[in-house]
Amino acid sequence: MSETEQQPEGGARQALRAPRGTRDVISPEVERWQSVEGATRETFARYGFREMRTPIFEDSVVFEKGTGETSQIVQKETYRFTDLGGHDLTLRPEGTPPVIRAYLEHKLGHSKDVARFYYIGPMFRYERPQKGRYRQFHQIGVEALGSESAALDAEIIDMAMTWLGDLGIESLRLVVNSVGDVDDRPAYMEKLVDAQKVFLGEMSEDSRRRHEVNPLRVFDSKEPEDQPVIEKLPKIIDHLSPQNRAHFDEVCGYLSDWGVGYTIEPRLVRGLDYYRRTVFEISSSALGAQDSLLGGGRYDGLVEQMGGDDVPGVGFAAGLERIVLALPEGAETASLDCYVVTVSRDLMPQAMALMRDLRGRGLRCTADFQDRSMKAQMKAANRSGAPAAVILGPDELSKGVCNLKMMESGEQHEVSLEILATVLAEELHGTGHTG
Ligand code: AMP
Repeated sequence: MSETEQQPEGGARQALRAPRGTRDVISPEVERWQSVEGATRETFARYGFREMRTPIFEDSVVFEKGTGETSQIVQKETYRFTDLGGHDLTLRPEGTPPVIRAYLEHKLGHSKDVARFYYIGPMFRYERPQKGRYRQFHQIGVEALGSESAALDAEIIDMAMTWLGDLGIESLRLVVNSVGDVDDRPAYMEKLVDAQKVFLGEMSEDSRRRHEVNPLRVFDSKEPEDQPVIEKLPKIIDHLSPQNRAHFDEVCGYLSDWGVGYTIEPRLVRGLDYYRRTVFEISSSALGAQDSLLGGGRYDGLVEQMGGDDVPGVGFAAGLERIVLALPEGAETASLDCYVVTVSRDLMPQAMALMRDLRGRGLRCTADFQDRSMKAQMKAANRSGAPAAVILGPDELSKGVCNLKMMESGEQHEVSLEILATVLAEELHGTGHTG
């Protein structure tokens, strides 16, 4: 798709399309989304996280203060607009600032206990679209507010790995780093900037710009000419204060004790400006070029920056589209249990009554609704993906039975309508319990 793609001439029918960088999620893919969402809710609940749903747009100042006025996201990627009442609003590009805004607005930190939230929903960034990168995408994220403990960082990283592993995603790679904080960052930044100045002539144009705006981001560069330079630059992990070094060692110690495989990646700085101390990223080789599934870290100072007390925090966000892309085949489930087919069109009232009954017993079913021949209905049943067809004919109905056809084996047998729901549940789920 391209923005300049030819549109048909005036009088011709105009093809309407989803905007560039957005996509429709349609069955059977949507079942994969649903199964991820369901498993996510269960896993996160086991760690004491509660869901939070915030608006899709916020006053722009939430992201200026939260994501950062000078960040690439706020400067270049937000969908920002003025509504009819003249309010300056932004479609959320990430979930952390809205969660903190709500945490402060509803005084959820009142008790001083650790508050744990998760969210699932759409985010918006004006980026160059490609496979795995969209302008409207969905993130699953968690935020834990109120503790500086390295145990919490480790728990969140462990939860992320357990969650993605349980979803069946293979070849996960976890990288961790520490980016320091107010104790050690200013002195290190001076060293970094001085070192970069020596190599400016050898750096890409993009990295020279990053050197001006945010020197840490030079580490993110994928440009080949920057790689030898990056090798020579001082790494923050070698310049941590003793206190921050001990915090990072504790996080790593937990992960090692629990057998969670990780690599320390001194180049990992993450795109968002608010991270302090622990940062981490999880990728999977099951994905193509955009292989990052999840990123996160500690953001002590952000709550204060957004107008609250000095409450520390740690969290992550994962891309739902990328998780779904990385899932193994067959992760989706059939969306119907059976398809009801009638031998003749005058049997529609009986078909409707049967479907009401089956649905009342927890079974998922539909029918053709097009007055078509039985052959056409059977083809539709096949296309629907339903594992069984229930065939109603006048003779069978007069005996109170129907024909149950299992689509995969082609095997067909007569079943009394009275026990149809139980027989279907047994055939499909190996249980006589419906629902
Ligand atoms: P970030 O909020 O930039 O730290 O990104 C966290 C995760 O969100 C990434 O690892 C991706 O899985 C996902 N993500 C970020 N931006 C996009 C995008 N434009 N399209 C799809 N997924 C994205």
